[in-house]
Amino acid sequence: MLSGKRGVVLGVANERSIAWGCAKACAEHGACLAFTYLGDAQKKRVSRLIESELPGSLLFPCDVARDEDIISLFSSIADAWGTLDFVIHSVAFAHREDLGGAFVKTPRSNFLLALDISAYSFVAVAREASRLMTQGGAIVTMSYFGAEKVVPRYNVMGVAKAALEACVRYLAYDLGPAGIRVNCVSAGPIRTLSSSAIPGMKHMLDIVEKWAPLQRNVTQEEVGRTTAFLVSDLSAGITGEVIHVDSGYNILGFTALGEEGKENARPDENGAAS
Ligand code: NAD
Repeated sequence: MLSGKRGVVLGVANERSIAWGCAKACAEHGACLAFTYLGDAQKKRVSRLIESELPGSLLFPCDVARDEDIISLFSSIADAWGTLDFVIHSVAFAHREDLGGAFVKTPRSNFLLALDISAYSFVAVAREASRLMTQGGAIVTMSYFGAEKVVPRYNVMGVAKAALEACVRYLAYDLGPAGIRVNCVSAGPIRTLSSSAIPGMKHMLDIVEKWAPLQRNVTQEEVGRTTAFLVSDLSAGITGEVIHVDSGYNILGFTALGEEGKENARPDENGAAS
């Protein structure tokens, strides 16, 4: 599906990262990959991972809050490969104190930081990457249901994801004439380093297991395979889209986000709460 294609993956922190699930799926389909890291500790972890599982991949530093890092990343890619086929952006950040509590208390600086790293960085990455996509290309980012509806405690990150999903549509419009597609995967909750900072994560996982049509949570591998599809020619007619990989949770017409107890009971076939 991806043989002969070259892609950059931003956001591998460790083997549980969604970005790693995406990278492995793309590599299984024949893609050649470059990774980024943030800080020395992550550099060591990601180097070890790629040496053992995806040898031959490239690795570059990139703090997406810094335009000069993004420019230098894609200039290194241009030196190494000349052109580029796809980018997977799997990066987000908000201060822990802004996840949980009242959204109305979010300070201006924390709001701007979350929107900068989690949404604007996608625009900056798309701009630099698109210069190398001379034969067209595909760009994918990661969102969550909290962009569409209020998910208590997700707070500023929900607002950042709403902005990110709007960026996907505007970027798809801008870059479409160059044959560059821009899409988004809205993943269900998955245990990762970042998601461990979200209060009530276990509760969110339990709710999906209980209420989602598939009655189970999704995996990094499943998100990875859908992302591989989105960066491949199999999805050639799709752009500006948000595809949910969430066991179908988003189709529910009610909120099942109450605290543990009766309100979360799923009716049995006779309509009784179980
Ligand atoms: P993760 O912690 O494995 O990955 C987050 C990555 O963002 C890390 O590699 C981190 O270094 C990187 N990052 C943060 N600030 C950065 C910066 N300034 N410059 C460069 N990189 C930076 O967690 P994850 O859950 O795999 O998250 C990946 C993406 O998936 C995020 O956008 C997240 O919001 C999204 N997502 C996660 C879930 C979930 O439940 N885990 C669900 C839906 C969407």
